[in-house]
Amino acid sequence: MMTLTRFAGWPVIAGAGLAGLSAALHLDRPCVVLTPGALGEEAASMLAQGGFAAAVGHDDSISLHVADTLAAGDGLCDRKVVETIIGAGPSAIHTLLGWGVAFTRKGSDTLDLHLEAAHSRARIAHVRGDGSGAGIMQALIAQVRNLPRIVVLDGVTLEHIHAVDGRVRGVWLNTGQFIPTNSCILASGGAGALYAGATSPNSNTGRGMAAAARAGAQLADMEFVQFHPTALNVETGGARLPLISEAVRGAGGVLVDETGERFTDELQSRDRVSRAIAGHRSEGHQVFLDARTGKSGKGLKRVFSRQFPGIALSCLHYGIDPDRELIPVRPAVHYHMGGVATDLHGRASLSGLWACGEVACTGLHGANRLASNSLLEAFVMGRSVAWDVNNSPRERHSCQDPDRPVRMGAASFGVQMEKGAGILRDQDGLGALSSYLAPLAGRDDHALVGAAIASAALRRCESRGSHWRIDCQMTARAERFHFTLKDIGLQERSSVYA
Ligand SMILES: Cc1cc2nc3c(=O)[nH]c(=O)nc-3n(C[C@H](O)[C@H](O)[C@H](O)COP(=O)(O)OP(=O)(O)OC[C@H]3O[C@@H](n4cnc5c(N)ncnc54)[C@H](O)[C@@H]3O)c2cc1C
Repeated sequence: MMTLTRFAGWPVIAGAGLAGLSAALHLDRPCVVLTPGALGEEAASMLAQGGFAAAVGHDDSISLHVADTLAAGDGLCDRKVVETIIGAGPSAIHTLLGWGVAFTRKGSDTLDLHLEAAHSRARIAHVRGDGSGAGIMQALIAQVRNLPRIVVLDGVTLEHIHAVDGRVRGVWLNTGQFIPTNSCILASGGAGALYAGATSPNSNTGRGMAAAARAGAQLADMEFVQFHPTALNVETGGARLPLISEAVRGAGGVLVDETGERFTDELQSRDRVSRAIAGHRSEGHQVFLDARTGKSGKGLKRVFSRQFPGIALSCLHYGIDPDRELIPVRPAVHYHMGGVATDLHGRASLSGLWACGEVACTGLHGANRLASNSLLEAFVMGRSVAWDVNNSPRERHSCQDPDRPVRMGAASFGVQMEKGAGILRDQDGLGALSSYLAPLAGRDDHALVGAAIASAALRRCESRGSHWRIDCQMTARAERFHFTLKDIGLQERSSVYA
């Protein structure tokens, strides 16, 4: 049976990270959740170390958190979006506590809050030091398992969104089956793993974004790819690079080179620290994080392995003892600010399509995400999407099986992406990348997303936030790019029907 009639008309949520689970839990009706592995597996949400940013400290305020977010975003944040999502932080923490998330406490009724780079206050709520994502996800997974109205299809992913006359009519799955529905909620995560050196799970290659774009939805801010300054610099045989959280630098870890000298301010925003490391490495230096217990005001006050047990285990796995040794680090792709353009309800430009979490682009992060704002966004926007779907009319379904679309490829372009659209970019590199990927975009999802990144980065002839053009300076005009595939000349190559 090609059509899953049992689920006809149900909202279909593609992705079971924090955004997808938040959406599922806040819906008031039966829904289907698609997930490539078991719940939570292969989700960036599960890997989050630092934690969840929210202005809940006694010395903090929403306006300070908003100001820090706007400063990191380098002129491109949407202020209304920032105020709304940041403003929802305290209520999100409240809900998560109610759902059983065991945020680490300081005393009986105060949360222990970490400081992270570019935050003016300690405001990162965390679970077991560096186990924040897993701690939050485990609590939500337990909630989902208790709700029979949420049907989880393990090992199933969304392949295509079927749209007719600008409206979603159903989704095609990797199993070859079709679910007729007017409500598709994309929560399929980011596109970091398109790049060779990335901290993101291997399944985060932007395929949900490709499906939305092929169905005609607008993308936005695609050129802004965030590099985390401190991934563990080890050989992983193609697997993602382990992350050394910003919280380590917040706790006093310092960046040094092979001579033991510091060469940059560790607590600047991510893009600045990443560029400083990339520049230093390009001059032939090796870069390390010194997170040994401080003896002269330098280093951590508490022993690393007690403060960051998960990261310590990752280091030990590669034979590095962070309590006693320097940790080799390099920048790696970590987050994609761009994605499916949405409004504050998570509505995409295609009717019946919502997007939340890293696959979406609300305008919260602008040109550069402030650390730990993404779990907050994933949770809050998952909730907003669900509330919007709850308020939309339930339509009856008359959609017959549409023609089966062609299967898209997903080849590996990691090395080309890093070379052409890495930390330091220029017209020649971006042009070469775009010319290479565009002809492949019609039949390959990775080529499509990579080509969209290259095209937007070529168009932005300025340096701003995470997008650094060595051939263009920052300009006074802060402008965001929203586009469909047609706008960038890719539409004619992207038909999903043979
Ligand atoms: C190592 C690491 C540490 C991080 N630390 C922090 C932190 O401390 N604080 C913070 O705020 N942010 C952090 N981030 C970023 C943050 O984790 C993510 O932005 C956030 O979790 C994204 O949530 P999500 O639900 O949108 O996506 P994800 O959690 O990635 O979930 C998306 C899911 O969708 C699945 N999927 C993909 N394609 C499809 C498809 N076609 N159909 C169905 N399912 C699909 C994916 O496999 C995945 O399981 C970190 C990221 C990484 C990689």
